[in-house]
Amino acid sequence: MARILITSAIPYINGIKHLGNLVGSQLPADLFARYQRGRGNEVMFLCATDEHGTPAELAASKAGKPVDQYCTEMHEVQADIARRFGLSFDHFGRSSSPQNHWLTQHFAGQLAEHGLIREVVEQQMYSKADGRFLPDRYIEGTCPNCGYESARGDQCDNCTKQLDPTDLINPHSTISGSTDLELRETKHLYLRQSTMKDKLEAWIDSKTDWPVLTTSIAKKWLNDGDGLQDRGITRDLDWGIPVKKGAEEWPGMEGKVFYVWFDAPIEYIACAKEWADAKGLDDSAWQRWWRTDKGADDVRYVEFMGKDNVPFHTLGFPATLMGSGEPWKLVDYIKSFNYLNYDGGQFSTSRGRGVFMDQALEILPADYWRWWLLSHAPESSDAEFTWDNFQVSVNKDLADVLGNFVSRITKFCRSKFGEVVPEGGTYGAQEEALIADLTARLRAYEACMEAMEVRKASQELRAIWVAGNEYLQSAAPWSTFKEDPERAAMQVRLGLNLIRLYAVLSAPFIPFASATLVEAMRIEDQSWPADVVTALAALPAGHAFSVPDVLFAKISDEDREDWQTRFAGIRT
Ligand SMILES: [Zn+2]
Repeated sequence: MARILITSAIPYINGIKHLGNLVGSQLPADLFARYQRGRGNEVMFLCATDEHGTPAELAASKAGKPVDQYCTEMHEVQADIARRFGLSFDHFGRSSSPQNHWLTQHFAGQLAEHGLIREVVEQQMYSKADGRFLPDRYIEGTCPNCGYESARGDQCDNCTKQLDPTDLINPHSTISGSTDLELRETKHLYLRQSTMKDKLEAWIDSKTDWPVLTTSIAKKWLNDGDGLQDRGITRDLDWGIPVKKGAEEWPGMEGKVFYVWFDAPIEYIACAKEWADAKGLDDSAWQRWWRTDKGADDVRYVEFMGKDNVPFHTLGFPATLMGSGEPWKLVDYIKSFNYLNYDGGQFSTSRGRGVFMDQALEILPADYWRWWLLSHAPESSDAEFTWDNFQVSVNKDLADVLGNFVSRITKFCRSKFGEVVPEGGTYGAQEEALIADLTARLRAYEACMEAMEVRKASQELRAIWVAGNEYLQSAAPWSTFKEDPERAAMQVRLGLNLIRLYAVLSAPFIPFASATLVEAMRIEDQSWPADVVTALAALPAGHAFSVPDVLFAKISDEDREDWQTRFAGIRT
């Protein structure tokens, strides 16, 4: 039995995520976790909310709540939606947890001990009206390059020039609008990534099986321009993990916190400790996933994320782990995704453009979305959600192919044999051909799932459904029944067993429909099929079942048009 550690990039706390976010990490990670569990492997699937940083503070202030209370509430909202989407995390943690405080401070202490932290005194914009230092992107002013009036302190969105807040003409705080800004001295800690360049590069070069998308992004950051830069890991904020050197105070860093990008990936590890603590297990329970000196040597660690997160996961986080001088488990494979666009443009949280996770579940069950998103995952390039495509895909794949198959065979059986698997008859050439076809397709499906080729896997699964439908169409037990009832009984028995096979194979993609089939067919053995012949005999003659309710309803043109209008971007 293999042991597989899976993490999904952690969603930011300030609001409900849209479908593009979902398909960029959590959903494909869930697909892989469910598949690996289905194959009988031991899986630890972790995700969490990313709760620190200025955007969380601002969102809380806008909601009129203390930031810790806001994060607690939003965490519960996100956890609830994740459950309803069937995201099967072993633990859904919080980057603000005591476990992450402890680990983040621990890593900083280790890095300092190994000479990998330097202290830098720098000048930063301070807003007297806001009573705080302002992060670069919370300062706006006129671009000195193109005259655009809403250029941010880090970059001008109009001409894309990289800027420093001091470059701006008439700079002001975007929080209060105040222009009463001044440069003040402040001290920060920098992670000396530049000294680890060779080590990181050698490690990345050793990952010959990684997709080019992943390694090319990492190489660019390692070598472009002046090469890998040291990175600030602290901020002048109230909300965050206080800067400490392990358990010790850090002289001169009082009142400062670690930068959210430093503590967020550490939460992957802290999350496993949260899981163990919640279950009342001791430290060895989570350490066997994360410490190579404590059992994690045989763990395969896979990370899922959008392409924008690749630099931090290939450089920043590994630099933290390697630099600690301790035997932490490093990632074995990174599965990264391009972007999902929405109906001719981008999803927009601020303008409410596109479908958000809570809204999606208000209009249709999770499996409809899971199927469409995964079968159109933005793997080799960006993908686009359109309502037409969604309607066609759901109606054809789920309703016509899978749903219709289940409905026809169970209803026919009920009418001729009752709600029980009929006995009699033996396989002929047609059945042998179906078995050969299914066997080849099953192996192809497994290979795609193992390789995390999400779209291809969905195509193989669909082909497996289609093969059953085509068999049923040509075997036509409703005709056979008149001349040869025994043969019809065999065909129906095979068809009912195909439903069981589909329930098992489809569970990673559409777990709710799969559970409906398991219940209706009273399936006890849900183990992954070793071979198709055995799998098609799992429900023996005499086994009772009930005809399930309609598995997937078709999406009408009227609904499609309604939704298209509703989600075009009017939410404020
Ligand atoms: Zn400009």
